[in-house]
This record gives sequence, structure tokens and C-alpha cells, in this order.
Amino acid sequence: MAAGRILIVGAGPVGLVLAYRLGAAGIAVTLVEALPDLAEDLRASTFHPPTMEMLDEIGIAQRMIETGIVAATFQYRDRRDGSIVGEFDYGMLRDDTRFPFRVQCEQFKVARYIHDRLQTLPNVTVRFSTRATSVRQDADGVVLSVETPAGPEELTGRYLVGADGANSAVRAAVGIEMEGFTWPERFLVLSTPFDFATAIERLAPVTYYADPDEWCFCLRVPGLWRVMFPVKTETTEDTLASSELAQQLLQGFFARTTPYDVQHRTLYRVHQRIAPDYRRGRVLLAGDAAHLNNPLGGMGLNSGIHDAANLADTLIEVWRGADDALLDRYTRQRRPVAVNHVDAQSKRNKAFLEERDPAVRRQRLDEFRRIAEDPKAAYLYVRQTAMIDTLRQAATLT
Ligand SMILES: Cc1cc2nc3c(=O)[nH]c(=O)nc-3n(C[C@H](O)[C@H](O)[C@H](O)COP(=O)(O)OP(=O)(O)OC[C@H]3O[C@@H](n4cnc5c(N)ncnc54)[C@H](O)[C@@H]3O)c2cc1C
Repeated sequence: MAAGRILIVGAGPVGLVLAYRLGAAGIAVTLVEALPDLAEDLRASTFHPPTMEMLDEIGIAQRMIETGIVAATFQYRDRRDGSIVGEFDYGMLRDDTRFPFRVQCEQFKVARYIHDRLQTLPNVTVRFSTRATSVRQDADGVVLSVETPAGPEELTGRYLVGADGANSAVRAAVGIEMEGFTWPERFLVLSTPFDFATAIERLAPVTYYADPDEWCFCLRVPGLWRVMFPVKTETTEDTLASSELAQQLLQGFFARTTPYDVQHRTLYRVHQRIAPDYRRGRVLLAGDAAHLNNPLGGMGLNSGIHDAANLADTLIEVWRGADDALLDRYTRQRRPVAVNHVDAQSKRNKAFLEERDPAVRRQRLDEFRRIAEDPKAAYLYVRQTAMIDTLRQAATLT
């Protein structure tokens, strides 16, 4: 039943990167997306140096730099008094990467840029308004059932990748259950054109504020600042929907005499969940379909794109004749990154920002000050947060 192509479900950034890399290697790819077009909502917006290198291979890094913001530094602050606890400079990475900075560019723009590049590959077909519903497989290939505006259809392929996000239908179809938990509080992201950098002295384009009562972080994207707050579990749906809450949170962050112009508001549930295996036979999982974490550190989407690069290289080797047992290397290399780095570090970041015990809090802030002041320790810290180490470590796993 196998057709000479690879099927991908989900035209988020991860599915699109995978489609491009496979297509550029000459493999026929059909990518199906449930929505009628690429998603347009404001979600992730941070791209770390190694991710920029991967996106440069697709030919979109320069476009992202031109239409995004180059963040040369990031900061941790104590929200109690606004003081800078540590400022870290990506310039320290100039010998490690061609992109010694973070690029702040909205996820929907990046998806659009990759999709534009896919138009140059006649062997890649993207089908919108096509929802994956079930999967079956045998020793030769995979059959994907989809719902389309013209009715149900079956697509065949040699392999199938579920890059269909947090509620992955592909993951459910092959019976892989995520392990982990969901945080009780939700995260609210408010976007405003007010330029906090003109009001808060030396504010870095990415700044995390530690506070036992209400931690937050703010980051700059073109024309907007996005400020993220945790919202208490007891907050009612009416309050969450109200503009008063948005004003109260932003005024609490930086008090002004005039109300804030709030241009976007995203409320979302945050999970720490990882699939126990990224492969079931001829079906593989990548990105949010395989792992979910809180956004502190901006690692979720980045690690998803790193999955896509690794999986593409592995599938290309198998396509060209390597034994398909090699596909297990993908889980062996990428899952430890999700467990030991992305999940662990994003939980540590949250614990640091929200620490309530005054003695522990003081100790953690002091530890950060020490790291920031010691050039060697600061370099190692920046290299690790830029996700360079995870890729180097993964490459050593066979
Ligand atoms: C509301 C929200 C806000 C977020 N905000 C932030 C943030 O501020 N910072 C941050 O770092 N991260 C944020 N994230 C997380 C970040 O957006 C994800 O890590 C990233 O989108 C993962 O990319 P992906 O390609 O794996 O999945 P997605 O981007 O989720 O793409 C999956 C695609 O699959 C499609 N799909 C789903 N089911 C099917 C199906 N059955 N058939 C066909 N297609 C299907 C979907 O329509 C979607 O286009 C947010 C996530 C959400 C949901």
C-alpha cells in the first residue's frame, strides 16, 4: 500500500520545516492541514541561535531579521524593586554560532516565510482544509484517513509524521499517551504598542521578572511589547474576559496615567508533558505533538524545529536505503533533550521566578548575580539557554 511519499499532518512551523527539508532532498511530501490557511494567531516569537542556523538553511533567516527584532541581550530582574539581577549578552556566543543573538519574530510570520519557500519545491504538496482523522499501518506503509471539503479520503505514504500540535490526532490514533501534568494557573499574554523601553531604564528586549506574588516576563516584537502573567486558578471566566483585568495587570507592571492600548490577548493552559516514545512503527511525532512545556525560556517551538531537522536527516537516510531501525535514533536523540533540558529548565525557570520562601529567593537571586558577573559562568549559561548544548549533546547519542 505504500506510495513513494512521506505524509505530514500539521502545517505549524514544525511540519513546515520538516516538509521543506524532506522536499529539498528530493522526497515527495504531502502535508495536510486542518485549517483553511496557515494559523495567524500570536503564539511563540523567540528564535534561538541554532534555530536561526536551521532556518537559514531554508533561506528565511535574513527575512526574519529584517522583519523581526534582534535581541542581543536578556535580563532577569527583581520585580520587588525593578533592579537588574543579571544581564546576559548573546555576543559571548560569537565563536559558537553565526547568529549570536535571539530573533523575536512572530510565529505566524515565520510559518508564512517557510510556506513561501515550499512553493519552490514541486514535489511538496500542501493541502489545507484537510483534517487527519485516523491512521492504519502495515509493514509497507501508512494509510491516513482525512476529512476534506469534498468528503472523506485516504492518503497513502511510506512514513507519516504527526506535527499536529498539542492535541495531536496522529498521536491519539497510534495510542501514544503523553506523560506529565498541567499547571493549575493559566498564562495570559497581553500585547501593547506602549514602548516599555522608553519608560524602564536599560530594559532588555527579553526580560524576566521574579516576584513571589506575581512574576511576569516581557518581550519585544515589532511594534509591540508582549507581557506574560500567570492568572490565579480562582479567577473567574468573567474576570478573565474583562478589559479591567488586562489594565490592572499592565498598570501593576508599569503604572501610567492613561489606559493601555491592548492589541492582543492570549490566555492559554500550560503543560509539562512528554510522549514516552516518538515512534510507533512508521508513524513519528514531532514538536508539540511530542512534548509540551511552559514558555519560560522560549524552548518549546525551538526544540520542535530541532526535532524537525533531526527527523528529516534520519528519514532521508532511511529513504536512501538505511535500515528503518535507524528511526529509533530520533527518539533516542531528541527525547532526552525534552526531558533533561526543555522540561527541566522550563520548570526551574518558573520555580526561580515564583519562589516565595524569602531565604531561598535571596539565595537564588544571589546565585544569578554571581553567574552574570563571572564571564566563564555567564558564557556557559548563555550557551545553555541558547540551546546550543542540547544539540551538541544529542549528536553524541547513537
Ligand atoms: C494559544 C497558544 C499560545 C502560545 N503562546 C506561546 C508563547 O507566547 N510563547 C511560546 O514560546 N510558545 C507559545 N505557545 C507554544 C507554541 O506556539 C508551540 O510550541 C508551537 O506552535 C509548536 O509548533 P508545532 O508546529 O509543533 O505545532 P502547532 O503550531 O500547534 O501546529 C500544529 C498544526 O497542526 C494542525 N492540526 C491539528 N490537528 C490536525 C489534524 N487532525 N489534521 C490536520 N491538521 C491538524 C493545526 O491546525 C496546526 O496548524 C503557544 C501555544 C498556544 C496554543
